[in-house]
Amino acid sequence: MKIGVLAAQGAFAEHIAVLQKLQVEALPVRLPAELKGLDGLVIPGGESTTICGLLEDYGLTDVLRAKIIEGLPVMGTCAGLIVLSKTITSDRKAVPLGVMNITVRRNAFGRQLESFETDVVIPAIGKKPFPAVFIRAPLIESVSGRTEVLARLPDGRIIAAREGKILVTSFHPELTDDLRFHRFFLDIVAGEK
Ligand code: GLN
Repeated sequence: MKIGVLAAQGAFAEHIAVLQKLQVEALPVRLPAELKGLDGLVIPGGESTTICGLLEDYGLTDVLRAKIIEGLPVMGTCAGLIVLSKTITSDRKAVPLGVMNITVRRNAFGRQLESFETDVVIPAIGKKPFPAVFIRAPLIESVSGRTEVLARLPDGRIIAAREGKILVTSFHPELTDDLRFHRFFLDIVAGEK
């Protein structure tokens, strides 16, 4: 299995390391040609305005959107979630790919809670709570269409969702030793989930 990790900016090295731990070939992607032959793609956290700008600069925006619409499985974490979204309510600086039926708000947890870690139950990956690390995280304000909510904070705020082969989290699963979220993505890529 070959998984690309968009290596424009942000936490791509961490995702590559997790995927290697799971014994899959993980390749950094910067050029449109590097999308060829991939079974799946990860869009990491970072700064969504920067990532969207770099996608344009690398000539990736349109090819990537087309591939995802054709069915390329993709996992977006934190800023990657913003990049995949249809609507951003908080500002108009980043122009997202618009491939997933979610409405998101950037930096939604306020100054005091810029970074925090909390255990969340994500039924799709098992009963044991997952250590979710949030860093200036976006919030999924609402989902529509075929999108399913996978996890919420105890107060009801949505922090993970799936629409077909698109999987997103507002937290950073690549910053913990718990590999279950990446494994879940690989099961989606393999057509087993
Ligand atoms: N605050 C960032 C943004 O809005 C996301 C933060 C992250 O990816 N850790 O793009």
